[in-house]
Amino acid sequence: MKNRRKFIKQLTSLTAVVGIPSILLGQTPWNNTKEVKATPPATSKSPKRALNRPLIVSTWDFGLKANEAAWTILIKDGAVLDAVEQGIRLCENDPNERSVGFGGRPDRDGHVTLDACIMDHKGNIGSVVFLEHIANPISVARAIMEKTPHVMLAGEGALQFALEQGFKKENLLVADSEREWREWLIKSDYPPAVNIENHDTIGMIAMDNAGNLGGGCSTSGMAFKMHGRIGDSPIIGSGLYVDNEVGAVTATGQGEEVIRVVGSFRVVEEMRHGASPQKACEKAVVAIKEKFVLREKDWSNTQIGFIAINIGGEIGAFSLRPGFTYAVKLDTVAEIRKARHLID
Ligand code: ASP
Repeated sequence: MKNRRKFIKQLTSLTAVVGIPSILLGQTPWNNTKEVKATPPATSKSPKRALNRPLIVSTWDFGLKANEAAWTILIKDGAVLDAVEQGIRLCENDPNERSVGFGGRPDRDGHVTLDACIMDHKGNIGSVVFLEHIANPISVARAIMEKTPHVMLAGEGALQFALEQGFKKENLLVADSEREWREWLIKSDYPPAVNIENHDTIGMIAMDNAGNLGGGCSTSGMAFKMHGRIGDSPIIGSGLYVDNEVGAVTATGQGEEVIRVVGSFRVVEEMRHGASPQKACEKAVVAIKEKFVLREKDWSNTQIGFIAINIGGEIGAFSLRPGFTYAVKLDTVAEIRKARHLID
């Protein structure tokens, strides 16, 4: 201890002579400056917050019905997170949606393992990964956020927590998913790539009447993935990010690639620095493509898509390859749109 103090003293006097920045010595040179904020506000180019103009955007075609469920809450002046949770639960509960919740496709060992996360306008976050036997991981993620001192629970521990909270334990593997898995086992072709048949994730971002943003993301991940594999969807910053001063973003597609560039956070940061939601999504997809190039990897069997909204109620969406759709709900509009893409 004495030696350490002596060392710091010597270093400090050395600084005076050679000018070592005080930050390297653990001092904060700006701590007298009132204006510095950890999270800089959006730039002067950023739009004004839209009030009393609720808006919901969700990934893929099934986002349309999820949006409808969420909308019933938002038009009654409900909170954005309630809307997001209810919208996502609708997809999770549908056995015909085979990439989410009940009915999700299993991993290569026949286990349906689910991932989800949720984030509100205050920066509260909850995430659950590698959860089995519970149909609504989005609600488990919310319970983790609201009822534990943590932000993420995994596997057995997450299941134990969910059961303590009263969630019902059930078999999530429906006959169609089991049949597909048995067919897949014959060739056991691996690694599985994200393509049009074997994935989807419900990601939903929304704004309520008060202009507050929130979002959620839920998935069974890539079909026939390795047991224990986690994608981007439950990773705050990758599969989802919300900054109430800027915008909200969620991702879908090959999670490994989204994680590589911390995709959703990246899109929010692009918006913070003045990009429209559309431009911001485009930049993140380009960044992903650049990583493929750098690593000399083939992207021909990969899909990645982002959707984004900003506080002004503008919408953006972009994907690596064709085929990414998203659902929009606002005022009298309830529709599925095709995202623009980078590579044919
Ligand atoms: N992003 C999900 C994952 O990697 C899959 C998907 O969106 O299709 O687990």
